[in-house]
Amino acid sequence: MSTLTFQGAVKEVTGSRYLIEVDGNGRSWKLLLECGLHQGGVDADRANEVPFGKLVGELEAVVLSHGHLDHSGLLPKLVREGYRGPIHCTRGTRDLLEIMLQDAAFVMAKDIEWENKWRKRNAKPLLEPLYEIDDVEQTLSQCVSHPYGQPVHLPGGVTLVFRDAGHILGSAIVELTIPSGGQQKRLVFSGDLGNPSSVLMKEPEKVFDADLVLMESTYGDRDHRPLEETIEEFASVLEEAHADGGNVLIPAFAVGRTQEILYHLSVLYHQGRLRQQLVFLDSPMAIKVTELYHRARKALDPEDLKVLNKASSGDTAQYLPVLRMTRTVEESMAINRIRGGAIIIAGAGMCNGGRIVHHFRYNLEASATRLVIVGFQAGGTIGRQIVDGAERIRVLGQDLAVKARVHTIGGFSAHAGQSQLIGWAGAFRNHPRFFLVHGEPETQKVLQAALAESDIEAQIPGYGDRIEL
Ligand SMILES: [Zn+2]
Repeated sequence: MSTLTFQGAVKEVTGSRYLIEVDGNGRSWKLLLECGLHQGGVDADRANEVPFGKLVGELEAVVLSHGHLDHSGLLPKLVREGYRGPIHCTRGTRDLLEIMLQDAAFVMAKDIEWENKWRKRNAKPLLEPLYEIDDVEQTLSQCVSHPYGQPVHLPGGVTLVFRDAGHILGSAIVELTIPSGGQQKRLVFSGDLGNPSSVLMKEPEKVFDADLVLMESTYGDRDHRPLEETIEEFASVLEEAHADGGNVLIPAFAVGRTQEILYHLSVLYHQGRLRQQLVFLDSPMAIKVTELYHRARKALDPEDLKVLNKASSGDTAQYLPVLRMTRTVEESMAINRIRGGAIIIAGAGMCNGGRIVHHFRYNLEASATRLVIVGFQAGGTIGRQIVDGAERIRVLGQDLAVKARVHTIGGFSAHAGQSQLIGWAGAFRNHPRFFLVHGEPETQKVLQAALAESDIEAQIPGYGDRIEL
């Protein structure tokens, strides 16, 4: 019998990793599905440091659903430890990996340098990064990209097909046909399923046949607010900010959320509803990703692009004429002189670093400023402290009073909500076995109960659990 072992993103949302062992004619083949980074806190750091060990020499192939680091961020470490086989992904994922893994290595190098300076002074042992830029380059050279819908033959008689998951550029649902006990078993891994009502991405494809399904459950306990309401809420915050004469700060994730926000700003602009005359995209990484989304626009939702094209008479330079992309530190610092009337989009998405905290220094203590939170804020981050109502925060060694008005707009999610997950799960015809992954334990229990009402029985696997296919 072939098996699958749950090695990560079990009862949590990061560190995706599943090991598939294909059994046939007295030998076996090992495939790794996902190779994600654990994120958030000391435990995560420790989990990331655990060596892959002998698996590195035994692996035949890696299959990747999409480029987010919690799914891909340990690939360069696997390669640094010696893995030289193929990494199968879509073209969009390959292109995003280049930007994201390079950035990850760069940030890691800077953090380690800073930490090691302190360690040297205090005669402590120096730290090693998980990987460096050379490992990233090597990783990218091992990526093999495939279009959606095309069967790919892997060792051990396994067939792979990617389907559009509608989550971020290149994101895929992974379908694997695996020989097991003399039969062909079909395993479907949802990857991260997109929110069908969000802009730019297509709807997640439905799949109808499977023996076994691994389904994500990030938002398994709730439905998102309808998009129209969210856009109206966003528009009215921008309008009030303009009337008050303050700047609008939007901390945003570089991949997906930034492009979505720019889309909505563009639509508002062409409707004559955007009063601000300056929109800054102040994040070199988000600029790179935005340019990639533009180059790869054929893969995006044609209906959404039609809206943009119509508004701007087909001239892409006119999508958002008030947009300024600031790459250099000098350009970024020049924004500090603008006291009001601008919208500033910058990373990090959870305000735990990046250029956004510099903008905090100049804007957060002004009551006319609006801070618009459009993404998830994990526990322990500055963003979370602000959302939870902190009156003071500490950034860049400085105490700041939070006098700006803070608006949390929850409707811009890149993940399917509960009803959408149940709808996707309900499309399978022959009652496959369901396993919920990539979700917090409480959320998973709520989704499990909701699925049961639709006659779908789902299990919640634990770390290290191994199942037969
Ligand atoms: Zn994702």
